[in-house]
Amino acid sequence: MIQGKTRPVVGALALQGDFAAHTTTMERLGADVTPVRKVAQLEGIDGLIIPGGESTTLIRLMEVFEFWEPLKRWISDGHPVFGTCAGTILLANEVLGPTQRSLGLIDVTVERNSYGRQVDSFEGTGSFRPTPESEEEIEMIFIRAPRIIRMGAHVEALGDCRGDTVVARQGHVLVATFHPELGAGSALHEYFLQMVIAARG
Ligand code: GLN
Repeated sequence: MIQGKTRPVVGALALQGDFAAHTTTMERLGADVTPVRKVAQLEGIDGLIIPGGESTTLIRLMEVFEFWEPLKRWISDGHPVFGTCAGTILLANEVLGPTQRSLGLIDVTVERNSYGRQVDSFEGTGSFRPTPESEEEIEMIFIRAPRIIRMGAHVEALGDCRGDTVVARQGHVLVATFHPELGAGSALHEYFLQMVIAARG
């Protein structure tokens, strides 16, 4: 249930990648969703999802549409952001395999395409811990996924699968290395929506 007068507005960065499924899930949870294609649209949203896709393409499009600095500022100002798969790569402090430009808004190092050729995509069950006292088993779909290979002291691990941290949070920045919009259930989206509602005050 959404509390308060107006429904939260969640943006989905819609330059490239899997933003449509995020939109469907968020709308089902009661949020309004705006596909974000221009910097000016950041003004009208309460939180942003950066979807999976191809991070190198996303980087190029973000440069072409001049998203880079304004988006970095908007997130640094405290607006909640949820990066999934390539979105995680964009938000990370450091990217390997190979190194590439990133926004540097969560203190993790990620290695791209880290699960190797044989298993470059797989579906697993992992655990998600929305609070320290609760744990849910959820379906996790990994598609040429990055792996979090280092986490800074201020980053919380909120989920894992096969021994890796796959959901992490630092303040208002949430990342998942898989595709929560493709799995059954919407635990991650519900969690992010609560972050957005909390940040609106
Ligand atoms: N392999 C992609 C990259 O490195 C990420 C894949 C995804 O988002 N599903 O950018």
